[in-house]
Amino acid sequence: MEMKGAVASACRLLATGLFTLVAVNVQAATVESMRLWAAPDHARLVFDLSAAANANVFSLENPARLVIDLDDTQMDTDPSTLPLHDSAITSVRSGLRDGGGLRVVLELNREIEPRHFTLTPNDQYGHRLVVDLEYPGESAVENPIDPIEAMIRDQEIQSQRAVAQQQVPGSPQVSAPAEPVEVQEARPHPRRDIIIAVDAGHGGEDPGAIGPSGTREKDVVLEIARRLAAEVNSTEGFKAVLTRDGDYYIGLRQRTALAREQKADFFVSVHADAFTSPRPQGSSVYALSQRGATSETAQWLADSENRSDLIGGVDGSLSLRDKDQVLRGVLLDLTMTATLNDSLSIGGQVLEQLGRVNQLHKTRVEQAGFMVLKSPDIPSLLIEVGFISNPDEERRLRDPVHQTGLSQAIFGGLREHFERYPPPASLLSWQRDNQRRPSGNEYRIQSGDTLSAIAIRHGVPVGQLRQANDLNGDAIRVGQVLQIPSS
Ligand SMILES: [Zn+2]
Repeated sequence: MEMKGAVASACRLLATGLFTLVAVNVQAATVESMRLWAAPDHARLVFDLSAAANANVFSLENPARLVIDLDDTQMDTDPSTLPLHDSAITSVRSGLRDGGGLRVVLELNREIEPRHFTLTPNDQYGHRLVVDLEYPGESAVENPIDPIEAMIRDQEIQSQRAVAQQQVPGSPQVSAPAEPVEVQEARPHPRRDIIIAVDAGHGGEDPGAIGPSGTREKDVVLEIARRLAAEVNSTEGFKAVLTRDGDYYIGLRQRTALAREQKADFFVSVHADAFTSPRPQGSSVYALSQRGATSETAQWLADSENRSDLIGGVDGSLSLRDKDQVLRGVLLDLTMTATLNDSLSIGGQVLEQLGRVNQLHKTRVEQAGFMVLKSPDIPSLLIEVGFISNPDEERRLRDPVHQTGLSQAIFGGLREHFERYPPPASLLSWQRDNQRRPSGNEYRIQSGDTLSAIAIRHGVPVGQLRQANDLNGDAIRVGQVLQIPSS
């Protein structure tokens, strides 16, 4: 009797314990708000929940719909106010499910691949259910570079790697890119555009820093990034690619992956600084550091920018295949040193230009471990255009004239660098080599030249040109120096 009673009360205790445990897990949740971010390649729908909730997401055909079932959840927001334009969703309905729970139905106007995950509370948000509608076959970039340009860039990158590898003693010998040893007709010069990836920091659920009168970093940096892209695109020989062109979030690794996909020659991430005191102001330029931050502020800033993914809510399981693994070793070191040197040199130019339109917070290029700069093969900079936490600068950051000034200064720095060191296949490189010509009566053959074109350009009959250079036919080779007879 005594024993029996003890067992019974132990069971009761256990049962109560279990009951509490279960009750915590199924605590009723409320959808407090819904937010939608429309990107070119996906739409993200976020449910802000008062507590964690189990979700079941599935597609239905004819008409195409996506159903989101939330266990033990109530609706406390009006989904009809969601900005659906530019997204795959034509309408949102919600209702109670048979047997309890909430059902949200999205009517769709295109094919989607759904993905969903939940996020636990952070500084900015509480419990969230994130539903991503991905558009198969769409690029995140609105105007991707054309396939021929991409091919030219691939060949260039490969031959650069081969050269780098040959410089390493003991590395496996790769067959050198076909050298024009034989006399042959020069191939046309590609005269390609130099591609600048312009990255507006933050976006979507991640507002970035917020100024004293409510200005959001994500908005001003998008404005400046767009102006910078326009500046780049209006310059012959340059093309810009925006990593985001709207109010949506992109993961930090995805940003550099996009730049790589678009064969960018350079990656520039635009941000606005914030500090706990309203006093600091001015622009700063950052490059990646492999060894650690050059200053405490730089480290603090890198930490806070790197936290972006937590706020922006990138699903942990989404982590892109780590390309760094593949690129490891000596080759990576070489590339890394080269791109870092380029980054620092370009950074110096940009800083100098920024100093003409704005006060400088730091007068040299700072270094810190920003995730968004960890792209071993593309020189990259992160630019803090100013302090949004400074009331004066916050106001100026919203001013279109100042925004244009900043973007012109950034591009001015980039342009100066690329005019001095143009990539071999670029239009700028071709132009530079062809401007050397008028000084003497010698001409060095460029890729893309033909004998008759050279003759015409110098106003010399082609026969005379052949005679002066002991040429029998029309065959010429890149690098060969021709004597130009005076006509
Ligand atoms: Zn930022």
